[in-house]
Amino acid sequence: MKPTQDPIKKIVIVGGGTAGWIAAATLGNIFKQKDVQIELVESDEIGIIGVGEATIPPLLATIRSLGIDEVEFIKATQASFKWGIQFEDWRIKGGSYFHPFGSIGSIIDGHDFYQLWLKSQAEGDTPPLMAHSPEAVLSEQGRFFLPFKAAGTPLAGAQYALHLDSALVGKFLRKFSEKLGVVRSEGKVETVEQNANGEIHSVVLNSGRQIQGDFFIDCSGFRGLLIEQSLNCGYDDWSAYLPCNRAVAVQTENVGATPPYTVSKARDAGWTWRIPLQHRTGNGYVFCDKYCSDQQAIDTLLDSVEGKVIGEPRVIPFVTGIRKKTWHKNCLALGLAQGFLEPLESTAIHLVSKTLAFFVRMFPDRQTNQVQIDEFNRRVRADYQEIRDFLVLHYCTTERDDSEFWRYCANMPIPESLQQKIDFFSVAGGLIPGVEELFQPTSWYAVFDGMGVKPQRYNPTADALDYVKLKTSLHSGQQAITNIARQQPSHDAFIQEYCRAPK
Ligand code: FAD
Repeated sequence: MKPTQDPIKKIVIVGGGTAGWIAAATLGNIFKQKDVQIELVESDEIGIIGVGEATIPPLLATIRSLGIDEVEFIKATQASFKWGIQFEDWRIKGGSYFHPFGSIGSIIDGHDFYQLWLKSQAEGDTPPLMAHSPEAVLSEQGRFFLPFKAAGTPLAGAQYALHLDSALVGKFLRKFSEKLGVVRSEGKVETVEQNANGEIHSVVLNSGRQIQGDFFIDCSGFRGLLIEQSLNCGYDDWSAYLPCNRAVAVQTENVGATPPYTVSKARDAGWTWRIPLQHRTGNGYVFCDKYCSDQQAIDTLLDSVEGKVIGEPRVIPFVTGIRKKTWHKNCLALGLAQGFLEPLESTAIHLVSKTLAFFVRMFPDRQTNQVQIDEFNRRVRADYQEIRDFLVLHYCTTERDDSEFWRYCANMPIPESLQQKIDFFSVAGGLIPGVEELFQPTSWYAVFDGMGVKPQRYNPTADALDYVKLKTSLHSGQQAITNIARQQPSHDAFIQEYCRAPK
């Protein structure tokens, strides 16, 4: 039995940035131009945003699910590896903490590791939480290896992601998509034509060519050419929770060893990123223009970077938030056209893949099904809200009061959903993850711990374990991580041996 009598036959993707090409590759891989034609239109004159270089592990899962060879992808995108994020000066100046991707410690006799660690701290034990995280230890030692090679050890479950050159990602995925039959057209969309019912009928390029489609994916970046400029979906502005609204970005030549992690350092009016790639380093300052001018931000960034600057710093304004509807009629918005959350936890590219996964699960036909669209929009919004709350946690728990920006952050209103999580954690030392949430409890524990937020008590069930045995077990686990990490190659040596990009 056919699922629909009225199938979609043509999808038009407007925009060829990371979002556009991930959409083309994902859908191209599914349809292989058999029943559904896919055409992507992009404008060389407008170009892409050209930032977006730190990722999280699910991107690699997406790459693998497309059948792309990981090493080939790493070489083609000048990628380096990432075990997590090093946060500096966020709680207090001079303090730092690590947010690793994987889990911290493992369950002992059915007890949650974090609770056991809290108990050991209450007993006067001193090793920090991150001594039990393979990714944090490997990062501290500047090492990288493929975790599956340590099967049977505590390092086997370590998780990694990539730092990559976003322009090269687009090029790679374009080649991949074109091989699958995706048609790429160059040109600037000047007009968007709608049917009487408001659905999009076609886009018209500056050459006069009209491209018709049954379904349109808006990957046109912040401008939201279809979703906003034509369909007027509106935008929920979340700046009250996340006040940063601009970034300045600059590239530098590499100096010294390549760290296997992203560095995020808090500054007077925001934070700077450092993302090392094989051929250069990406740097940026995310700031709030209420507390810092563009020139001050540029000066702060240029003073902080290591290595010779390549090109001119670029200022990028943004508004944190999400479209009120990310799927409306026969149009889906992806990437920057969908919404924006600052890159503090490198989540934007992941949101593109995750939205596409939902979309494929709920793939429509030509008749709009509002129930399906409403559910889709609810799910995408829930993802944004989850990430928003996690980002706000980094700010609202600060103890810094040395600048107007940080004083605002320490006292700003926070979403009720986040307040509930903080309250629950403070009282019960726990977290209840929702369905399909990105950030699992260990991520929250890492940030709570790093920001000095401690629960009032550990879970009393931890007392059921013999403390001497527990202490021995914690210490031997920690020693095993340190020792096995020491046997691994440096990050640079690993890249050199397995995936150095050709010069
Ligand atoms: P763009 O790259 O802007 O692409 C838009 C496309 O639309 C272009 O091809 C353009 O030519 C085309 N277009 C626009 N108008 C027209 C028209 N009229 N006709 C034809 N074509 C048109 N994400 C992460 O995951 N990790 C990070 O570390 C990270 N850091 C970031 C830092 C900053 C400062 C910013 C602003 C974003 C960051 N992001 C990050 C987000 C990431 O950059 C984006 O999610 C990603 O690059 C996708 O962008 P995009 O494809 O939606 O838009």
